[in-house]
Amino acid sequence: MEQELNTLQTLAKDELNAVTDSAQLEDFRIRFLGRKGEFSSIMKGLGKVPKEDKPRLGQLANNIKKELESLFDKKKISLNADSSASGNGSSIDLTLPGRKPETGKLHPVTQIMNEVCAIFESLGFSVAEGPDVEHDHYNFEALNIPAHHPARDMHDTFYVSDSILLRTHTSPMQARIMETQQPPLRVIAPGKVYRCDSDITHTPMFHQVEGFLVDKNVSFADLKGVLTIFTQKMFDKKLELRFRPSFFPFTEPSAEVDIACVMCNGKGCRVCKQTGWLEILGSGMIDPEVFKKVGYNPEVYSGFAFGLGIERIAMLKYGIDDIRLYYENDLRFLSQF
Ligand SMILES: [Zn+2]
Repeated sequence: MEQELNTLQTLAKDELNAVTDSAQLEDFRIRFLGRKGEFSSIMKGLGKVPKEDKPRLGQLANNIKKELESLFDKKKISLNADSSASGNGSSIDLTLPGRKPETGKLHPVTQIMNEVCAIFESLGFSVAEGPDVEHDHYNFEALNIPAHHPARDMHDTFYVSDSILLRTHTSPMQARIMETQQPPLRVIAPGKVYRCDSDITHTPMFHQVEGFLVDKNVSFADLKGVLTIFTQKMFDKKLELRFRPSFFPFTEPSAEVDIACVMCNGKGCRVCKQTGWLEILGSGMIDPEVFKKVGYNPEVYSGFAFGLGIERIAMLKYGIDDIRLYYENDLRFLSQF
């Protein structure tokens, strides 16, 4: 057995020297060091040798195996080094740190949109969505804006045809929902709106949330209460609200709502143009004419409506002064939110 081991040792060393690539090296490993390899088959004979020879032969076999294993490892390293140097890319460096997969995030406008919806849902409003391509009827007529009404000029409308357009606000949902449902109603309608306008504070497409509530005995105080809770939750602080009389064809009376500047707390800064106030939404009591068009009795029901721009809220919340940044798809900008 001793002779078998020595022969194997010499043979294995010669074979290993002749190995020139990793496939041959693997063949070598299987043939000599594998579980069914030549070394193992010699070791099976160890049980049959005389008892007094066992320790010596066992020791010898162990030493030979260790030597072959260490030569094998050295050969492996040198083969890897060669292949890396020649740049054929077949070697894998397991010590390199792994590559992290890029994870996506919601767009800041989507995040704000979700936040706005969640706040109103917590106040009992349900969420409704409607078409971006809208009938003139719902976008204007049903909201008390007949053809040639001067208010149409403010909307810079994209027309698809004479009677079809890209909705200029989310208010058409008011008419669509009131047409098919009876009060009490508490609904918000988020979505994209379109206007032919582009500068530092306007993009041709932007997002609005329309909200309205119709029931018996709804007053302006209810509107104030809902909007006060909304702004406090949205900006995480108690903010003073200011209602300025305004005009919208579908609400009467109408008010634009300002909040105390979130940047300077009303002291006056660049963002609020030193006024201490920021305009955030339009609102008012739903005009009886709008109720009549959908068949509600304005003597019985009253309600309020409001509309706010999501980008505007996002700009104020994050202190961004150019709305176009949201749509340039620059990850350096978007990944900050
Ligand atoms: Zn300010």
